[in-house]
Amino acid sequence: MTQDFHYEADVVVIGAGNAAMCAAISARENGAKTIVLEKSPEKEKGGNTTYTHGSIRFAYNNNDDIKQLIPDLDEEDFKITDFGSYTEDEFYEDICRMTNYKTDPTLASLLSEKSYETMKWLTSHHIRFIPIYGRQAFKIDGKFKFWGGMVLESVGGGQGLVDALHEEAKNLGIAILYDTMATQLIHSDDGIVGVVMKEKGKTKRVKAKSVIIASGGFHANVEMRTRYLGPKWDLVHTRGSRYNTGEGIQMALNIGALPAGNWSQAHSVTGDRYLPDFEEGFQKLSYPFGIMVNAEGKRFVDEGADFRNYTYAKYGKIIMEQPHNCAWQIFDAKVSPYLREEYKGRKVTKVKANTLEELADKISELNKENFLKEIKAYNDAVDESVAFNPNIKDGRCTKGLAIPKSNWANKIDTAPFEAYAVTCGITFTYGGLKINEQAEVQSLLYEKMNGLYAAGEVVGGLFYTNYPGGAGLMAGSVFGKIAGANAAKFALTRLTSNINV
Ligand SMILES: Cc1cc2nc3c(=O)[nH]c(=O)nc-3n(C[C@H](O)[C@H](O)[C@H](O)COP(=O)(O)OP(=O)(O)OC[C@H]3O[C@@H](n4cnc5c(N)ncnc54)[C@H](O)[C@@H]3O)c2cc1C
Repeated sequence: MTQDFHYEADVVVIGAGNAAMCAAISARENGAKTIVLEKSPEKEKGGNTTYTHGSIRFAYNNNDDIKQLIPDLDEEDFKITDFGSYTEDEFYEDICRMTNYKTDPTLASLLSEKSYETMKWLTSHHIRFIPIYGRQAFKIDGKFKFWGGMVLESVGGGQGLVDALHEEAKNLGIAILYDTMATQLIHSDDGIVGVVMKEKGKTKRVKAKSVIIASGGFHANVEMRTRYLGPKWDLVHTRGSRYNTGEGIQMALNIGALPAGNWSQAHSVTGDRYLPDFEEGFQKLSYPFGIMVNAEGKRFVDEGADFRNYTYAKYGKIIMEQPHNCAWQIFDAKVSPYLREEYKGRKVTKVKANTLEELADKISELNKENFLKEIKAYNDAVDESVAFNPNIKDGRCTKGLAIPKSNWANKIDTAPFEAYAVTCGITFTYGGLKINEQAEVQSLLYEKMNGLYAAGEVVGGLFYTNYPGGAGLMAGSVFGKIAGANAAKFALTRLTSNINV
């Protein structure tokens, strides 16, 4: 078959979020002429990555390792900061623990082992980071102590990360086509030879010696969501990018790629019940310092089971399963100083009252009698003999409740009281394409598909049921860098005769 090609490159990358741009930069620095195809207009570039805080999880041994990543941080700031350590083994174990040991051990090992060197690689490409003071470390007795294995975020958050990656790509001579949706992979018996796309509404083809799919998952595709995740997932709030609708996964499956991972579950969090889809500010993640009740007035999870980073990605689904798919987060004046910044602002659905009775009256669809009984039972069960400390798993727990609160349990007894209406919001999907250590996409015959690579959310097999916060960006960077290097190597050694179509 002969086809007309409008463009030609060694490596074509589909998507322009974190994984894609890391892949493109890596391919380019390994000598490949690289073109990026991005479905969105330029002003919405960056996919889900733009919506992040830029918080990124990586292994490190001490403050000195951190210093190498953020050389500009003031010496005085280092003196009042305890970054602790987060070893490769701890990172690996966290992924295993979060996924009930279902994670692909090869990919999880690579992710943890390559995380620090990939952070250094990112900084060598002018991506800048700062400590996540406030959200990941509270100042106690004059010192910040970090917790939860996540200490840095990109300067300017997700938008800053995307801008910096795009700037670097531009400086390296990588071409980015916006308003360009990849629709189909072109392949021959020798492997991938190009991509069909709609560029500003026109069907075009790009010839490529290798292709990297980094176009995100399918969280914004209501049909795929309902098909794979099941009933009720059509109704949940959709976070992040509206462009992650699954074509990248679909086009690879169409030519015989092997699906992998947890197709029936997704990263989903608790957030504002009434915020429209795709709007920023949805998440409400300070629940470890309060309690959550459903419409029956009952608690339904251990809000303090672990640091927020280790529970938030699975509690959205649990709220979806409650009556009316919703819940309320309850806090009193003692803990309100610890609430994250997303609890402020006019778009937040909250009620406030000076008594719990009054608060219950203001919450719609709530069984008031049960609610007041539940709070009393909870308050009576709090063991106040252990000191409250938000920087550690303090073990300040409840005693004797069917659903315990294992840490940070404080009586809800100090006015004013606040209740925030929350529901489930989907962030990204876990099911995707099977890749090996080289980021090569695997086929239904368990062989590599010549010239086809994948990175980021599009990959399946790393995350199941739950996820350690900050691992999404790191996975995109680690596997993007690997995919880019290997795609370039493959492209530059591939015989041109093998890509004739
Ligand atoms: C609100 C929110 C907060 C988050 N916070 C964090 C955080 O702090 N830390 C963290 O690690 N993770 C976080 N995540 C998860 C994180 O966003 C993802 O894990 C990561 O950004 C995924 O990167 P990616 O490059 O795989 O996908 P994306 O960044 O989503 O990029 C995919 C790109 O592909 C494009 N695309 C899709 N289809 C096509 C097509 N057919 N043709 C061409 N282009 C296409 C999309 O437009 C998009 O630009 C958060 C997610 C959300 C939504």
